[in-house]
Amino acid sequence: MELSLLTKYERQDARAVLQRLDRRGILGVANLEATLSHFARAMLREDVVVNLSEAGIPSPNGFYEMLGQHDAVISGSFVPSFLDPELARSWTTEEVSVGDVDVYIGKGKLDIVLNALADLPGADMEILERHAAPPPTVNEDGTVSNGGRDLVFYTNTAIHAMASVRFMDENGKVGYMDVVESKSASAFLPIVRFNLTHLRAGLTFDGYVNMHPTWSEGRRTFASEHVQTPPTDALNDLMAQGLRYTGWLDKYRRRGYDVRDEGVVKGIKQHECFSSVDCPLTTRNTCDEGVQYIAYSERGAIEACSGPPRWLRDPVVYWRHGGRCEWGGEASATAKVYDSEGVSDDPSDGN
Ligand SMILES: [Zn+2]
Repeated sequence: MELSLLTKYERQDARAVLQRLDRRGILGVANLEATLSHFARAMLREDVVVNLSEAGIPSPNGFYEMLGQHDAVISGSFVPSFLDPELARSWTTEEVSVGDVDVYIGKGKLDIVLNALADLPGADMEILERHAAPPPTVNEDGTVSNGGRDLVFYTNTAIHAMASVRFMDENGKVGYMDVVESKSASAFLPIVRFNLTHLRAGLTFDGYVNMHPTWSEGRRTFASEHVQTPPTDALNDLMAQGLRYTGWLDKYRRRGYDVRDEGVVKGIKQHECFSSVDCPLTTRNTCDEGVQYIAYSERGAIEACSGPPRWLRDPVVYWRHGGRCEWGGEASATAKVYDSEGVSDDPSDGN
């Protein structure tokens, strides 16, 4: 049921209840089976659209519909600022350009989505830059990485190509968006490849998905071994720019996150290593019980009764956080990312 179909008084009552809750509370209500869950889902959808509008996205309703048409996923800082608006308000513009929206799409969809964005009414869209992932380079130690060009973007080796676009409406309001094409048919390959676990989350047309809900409690986030042992050439590039590699982690600490980068994942509940979804040694997947999916479209809520949505299972994406686990003794595992069609984040495999 759409919020707009309810009487004015019913809407006011639902809002009066929901507005007393924080975002997590509203997400909890959205997961209920009672009538209130319909209102919560409608409120979450409305708030996604309002946040998109505030970020300078023209025709935010049309953009939201487009997410569903192309199985696109909003990820990056837009997601934590939607979920945790109180925290986001504490960020200064030097720390994060809050207005930016990052959209992830499956392989082969970049032109389609750029055309759809250009067709959104209400603003002019300009493509500022567009890159295919640079060819892989072999490091001195024999490891393969994505090369040093456009470093910030391409340290994520699950990205196939990207474009940065700018919207400007007739009043001069500007919005920026990065459109990121995955190496996989799934938009989630680069998302589970993010080096901090709290970033492995997204907003789709149908709902909110979080790959590490138990690890993200209390604004906690774990750095992957990719951060602890950055590619040689990437590190050299950062040195050349006068930046410390840990500066990237410090950025998130300044934003209020409890960033853990010890090399051994600590502080999670006791479990059976290599099989629990809480274990960094376990190979996870986008359809396993550790994935938190909260639908906020009515379509999504109905579909969720019969299993994971299509955009999480076609294809399934697998990942392992890797490193070592406090419950696993000396056992260790490398980080990895791949999908059920055999596409991986390894730059040397030709995908
Ligand atoms: Zn473990």
